[in-house]
Amino acid sequence: MIQALNNIQHQLYVLPTRRDEFVKEIATKGKVQNFQSQIYRKDKSIIWISENARLVYDKDNQPIYYEGTVEDINDLKNHAVEIEHQATHDHLTGLPNRYILNDRLQQSINFAHRYQSMLAVVFVDLDQFKLINDSMGHSVGDQLLVSVSQLISNNVREIDTVVRLGGDEFVILIPNVHNQEDIEHSLARLLHHLSIPLTINNFNFTVTCSMGVSVYPNDGKDPDTLLKNADSAMFKAKHAGRNNYQFFTPELNDILTDRFNLEYKLRHGVEHDEFILHYQPKYNLMTGDICGAEALIRWQPQDEALIYPLTFIQIAEETGLIVKIGQWVLETACRKAKQLHTLTGRNLPIAVNVSPKQFRQSNFVQIVKDALTHSGLAPASLELEITENIMIDDTPKFIETLHQLKLIGVKLSLDDFGTGYSSLSYLKDFPIDQLKIDRTFISAIEEDNANMSILKAIVFLGQSLGLGVVAEGVETQFQHDFLLSVGCDEVQGYFFSKPLAEHHFDALILQH
Ligand code: C2E
Ligand code: MG
Ligand code: MG
Repeated sequence: MIQALNNIQHQLYVLPTRRDEFVKEIATKGKVQNFQSQIYRKDKSIIWISENARLVYDKDNQPIYYEGTVEDINDLKNHAVEIEHQATHDHLTGLPNRYILNDRLQQSINFAHRYQSMLAVVFVDLDQFKLINDSMGHSVGDQLLVSVSQLISNNVREIDTVVRLGGDEFVILIPNVHNQEDIEHSLARLLHHLSIPLTINNFNFTVTCSMGVSVYPNDGKDPDTLLKNADSAMFKAKHAGRNNYQFFTPELNDILTDRFNLEYKLRHGVEHDEFILHYQPKYNLMTGDICGAEALIRWQPQDEALIYPLTFIQIAEETGLIVKIGQWVLETACRKAKQLHTLTGRNLPIAVNVSPKQFRQSNFVQIVKDALTHSGLAPASLELEITENIMIDDTPKFIETLHQLKLIGVKLSLDDFGTGYSSLSYLKDFPIDQLKIDRTFISAIEEDNANMSILKAIVFLGQSLGLGVVAEGVETQFQHDFLLSVGCDEVQGYFFSKPLAEHHFDALILQH
C-alpha cells in the first residue's frame, strides 16, 4: 500500500494543505502532537486520524526521517461531532439553539459591517401556544413546534438562520438586506405561510405568531442590544393583537420603561394595601329597586390621584399579581355584603369580577369558600363575573371549576357578553345564571335600528335559556325605556348611579 503512495499530499489527505502544515509544524517544533486530519483509506472511504511524530536526525544532525504513530480516531471524532451537534442544536426541531445564536449573530454583524448591508434580527413567539400545549397535551405541542419550525425554515432564504431559543420562541437572522421593504416582504410571507392550518392527530390548528424586528446598524450594533430590542418589538406585536410584526422604535423603550415602573409601583401597592373598592348599584328594571351591586377596584397610591382598573388590571394579570389582588377583592366585597345585610336586614348580592388567571388557579374554589366562611356571607349573595374569553378555554378542568362553584351555591355571571368569541353553544352547556350585555351594545342602539334588533335578540336568547339578563352601561332615558320594553331584567349604568365610594354607597343603601 505504501508503495502505491507516490503523492501523499493528494492521495492521502482529504485536505491537501494538511501535508504542508504537518511538514511546517515539524520543521518549527521538531514534532507534531495529536495532529488530526481526515484521510482516504484504500477503499476511498474517509476516516479521521491522529498523528504523533518527530523528526529523526543522523549523526551529522541532518533530518533523515519522521518517526511516530498514526491512530485511527474516527469513532472518537464522530462521537465528538455528534456531541457538539447535540450541544448546539435543539433535539426536538433540529434547529440551532441559543448556544450558537450569539456566534452566528456576531458573524452576521461582521458581514453586514464589511459589506455595508443591513441585518434583521427577528424575535418570533407563537400566539396562545401555552393554551394549546396545556389543553391538547405536550405531544401535540411538540409536533406543532416541529411543524412550525419546518414551516419557518422552508420559508426563509438559504442564507437566513433560524434558531430555536426554547419553548415557543424562535429567532431568525436575515442578513444582507438593504431596506425595510426587503424585511417586510420576508415577514409578510412568513406570516402568510404560518397562517395555513396544520393537521395534527386529525385536528386542525391555525398557529399565528407575533414577531419583533430590530435592524443592524440602526437599532443596535452588538448581539445583546439587537436581541433585546427585537424582544421589545415582539412584546409590542403581542399587544397590537398578535399575528403581526412590529419594528423596534426608540419610543418603545420608553413605553416598556413606563410599564416596568408601573409594575414596580403595583408590587409596592399590593404590599402596602393601596386598593379600595367602589360599588355600583344594579337596579331591577320593573320595580326600580336596587337589587345588588358590582364591586369595582380602584388603586389609591399615597398622595396621588385614583387609578382605574383599565390602567393596571392587565399588568396585574400578566405579572400574576392579580392572584393576590383578586383574593383581597373577594374577601373585602364579601365582608361588605355581609355588613350591609346585618345593617339593613336585606340580602343584597354583591358581584365580583374574576380575571382569567385568577379563575385558573388550582385552589380558586377553596379561596371562594374561604371568603364566604370568613365573612359569614350566604353563598347565594355572591356573584362571580367571568368574561367570555375565559370560556374559550373549555378544558374539563375549567368546566369542573364552574360546577364546583355552582355546588357551593354562588351565582355565575357572564360579563361583557358579546365582545368575545360569542360562540353561543357554550351558553347551554355551562352552568351560568346571568348574562351581562356589554355596554357597547347598549350605547349602539341610538345610532342604528339594527342594533336595537340585536339587543332585543340577545335579551330574548338569554331568557329563553333561563338566564337572567343584565344591561350594563345604561346612560340615557331612551336606553332605559327600550330595555324595559324588551323585558331586560336588571340594569346598571351612569343613568342610575356611577360606581360609588364606600360611604356614599352605604348612604344610598340606607336611604332606600
Ligand atoms: P366591567 O366588569 O365590565 O365593569 C363595568 C365598567 O363600566 C366599570 O368600569 C364601570 O365604572 C363602567 N361603567 C358602569 N356604568 C357605566 C356607564 O353608564 N357608562 C360608562 N361609560 N361606563 C360605565 P371600571 O370600574 O373602570 O372597570 C373596568 C373593568 O375593570 C371592569 O369592567 C372589569 O373588567 C375590570 N375590573 C374592575 N374591578 C375589578 C376587580 O376587582 N377584579 C378584576 N379582575 N377586574 C376588575
Ligand atoms: Mg364586571
Ligand atoms: Mg362588563
